[in-house]
Amino acid sequence: AKKAASNAIIAPNFKFEEMGIGGLDEEFGAIFRRAFASRVFPPALVEKLGIQHVKGILLHGPPGTGKTLIARQIGKMLNAREPKIVNGPEILNKYVGASEENVRKLFADAEKEYKEKGDESGLHIIIFDELDAIFKQRGSTNSGTGVGDSVVNQLLSKMDGIDQLNNILVIGMTNRMDMIDEALLRPGRLEVHMEISLPDEHGRFQILRIHTAKMRTNNVMDTDVDLAELAAMMKNYSGAEIEGFVKSATSFAFNRHVKVGTMAGISEDVDKLRVNRGDFFKALD
Ligand code: ATP
Repeated sequence: AKKAASNAIIAPNFKFEEMGIGGLDEEFGAIFRRAFASRVFPPALVEKLGIQHVKGILLHGPPGTGKTLIARQIGKMLNAREPKIVNGPEILNKYVGASEENVRKLFADAEKEYKEKGDESGLHIIIFDELDAIFKQRGSTNSGTGVGDSVVNQLLSKMDGIDQLNNILVIGMTNRMDMIDEALLRPGRLEVHMEISLPDEHGRFQILRIHTAKMRTNNVMDTDVDLAELAAMMKNYSGAEIEGFVKSATSFAFNRHVKVGTMAGISEDVDKLRVNRGDFFKALD
């Protein structure tokens, strides 16, 4: 029994589909082992082993593949406080000087709590979506003091400051890994990197199952709709696109007071959707 318990820590038996995440079992397991296993160890053991918790991770890959979904789920699993989510453009949109202040504020609650409660304080997760936007702005003004520069410097110094704190985890997300400055990816900063790619056929099947679960249990979807067949048709579709597809099929049916699609109707919709896809995905077709 002892062995089983320790295995459970290293490779917990997550029910990803119940969590609403399809096709990312391997990625999730790997992130957990590499970045979070130590967070569920008893604190005394962490101390004994001299383990440094991972302070930051970077999730990268195409849009709509579930990066935010994973980041939120990680927070829940680690019993963290409600994550603070900010996106790059949002930070930069504020006038110069206020941007660093925004970054500083993000960390303030966690820092305050750590001062008061030390290792007893709750885990604070700070999520930077579209992290690349900050770097795009770097050095973009002639003086070399672009807003991006100072925000990046502020972020770096905050990340370094976390060394003294055990209650902060930063999760960066980007579709443009190539834009992210090496300096941010070093050990002690966003040190664990995980690519979240487009789902394969089985992943698409799981995602379809997740987003049609209610319709199927409530019997509002024709039984001839074959999710496996749809998954095969939806090559290179992201999770968000699959969700969007299910939603539009639903409202179509709702407006006509009919069940959600027959297989023939739905297949036709898949083809229509393909035409309207964004440039990123068009390039893959
Ligand atoms: P972006 O890079 O555009 O921020 P992202 O990778 O963070 O995208 P999410 O915001 O997590 O993508 O995905 C958008 C929505 O699409 C999710 O809320 C979810 O409903 C659906 N979705 C995406 N990927 C998956 C998945 N793997 N399983 C289930 N649903 C998914």
